[in-house]
Amino acid sequence: MYYNWKETTNTEELKIVCNLIRNGELVIFPTETVYGIGANALDEKAVGKIFIAKGRPSDNPLIVHLADKNQIKEVAQNITEVEQKLIDAFMPGPFTLILERKSIIPDIVTAGLDTVAIRIPDNVIARGILTYSGVPIAAPSANLSGKPSGTSVEDIRKELEGKVSAIVDGGETDIGLESTVVKVIHEVPLILRPGKITPEQIEKVAGIVRLDSNIFEEIQQNQKIESPGMKYKHYAPETKCRVICFEDELDQLFYMKRAIKEYRGDVVVLGFTEHKEKIYVSENRYIDIGSKDHLEEVAQKLYTSLRKADALKPQIILIEGVKQEGLGIAIMNRLLRTCSYDCIKENTIKI
Ligand code: AMP
Ligand code: MG
Repeated sequence: MYYNWKETTNTEELKIVCNLIRNGELVIFPTETVYGIGANALDEKAVGKIFIAKGRPSDNPLIVHLADKNQIKEVAQNITEVEQKLIDAFMPGPFTLILERKSIIPDIVTAGLDTVAIRIPDNVIARGILTYSGVPIAAPSANLSGKPSGTSVEDIRKELEGKVSAIVDGGETDIGLESTVVKVIHEVPLILRPGKITPEQIEKVAGIVRLDSNIFEEIQQNQKIESPGMKYKHYAPETKCRVICFEDELDQLFYMKRAIKEYRGDVVVLGFTEHKEKIYVSENRYIDIGSKDHLEEVAQKLYTSLRKADALKPQIILIEGVKQEGLGIAIMNRLLRTCSYDCIKENTIKI
């Protein structure tokens, strides 16, 4: 069933949706980051359906969503001082913390790890569903495994309709990128996946922060990784993608034009508003991803723009990269995976 809650949440329908969750069914719902495909996290069979619907590898664990902070102690234990500080500062919000797991959480959720990823979303619809269903909800992003995450129902309907019992439409998601994922190791927060909550914000709270070395790099074979999700292809449309990323505007435009020529114009450009008149491609082949000085806008539009570009079936999608600072860290982390590390930037030019 499709439920339109773009304007207001409907209490009667909320009851129906929460009953579906309690009865072990799958529900797609919005959060402030991206859409989630959720099931009762305590019901092994229900969680199994998520992996099947997404085609997700079974060794990639899920984030468990909670209605409020009191619920954390029901699913996790031995919370340290630093972890508590992070909980107090960033929950509810676009922030996921890896904690020591309690046995109430089935193995299928954590892929057998002794930790569990916890998030409390800050979105009226998500919190309504979590509160009234009364159970923790395991919910990865609503998309087929490997594809860009879903930030609007229009984008994911084709992929997942028929595989879930309900789709709740809350309009476009606010942030557009998945949560920041953090694991505290020896009292130091390690960012496993960057997001809206930036390293600077975490450092302010914990006094120290580290970025996992894989955030901008391809995983090598047999490399030890903290988060199973890191090793899989992610955020990628069908079409080949390339990121072009120079600080100097003239360089940026030069290398963009060179790539357009290389592909004889059969490209789609995901470019900044500022460059719309400066990068020449045929009509409808320039998708404006927002101002280069407004990364919130770029993050919010990113996945929808990738899907739009993919639908046009060019030979290649050329994407303007951003500065790797603040929210730009999260955007570049996603883009590098989107383009399978085909990124042209300073120091990578072959003359
Ligand atoms: P998704 O729900 O698809 O946005 O992805 C959740 C991310 O969190 C994936 O990259 C997972 O590998 C990661 N994750 C979930 N649980 C854990 C855990 N217990 N330890 C480390 N990473 C985790
Ligand atoms: Mg995902």
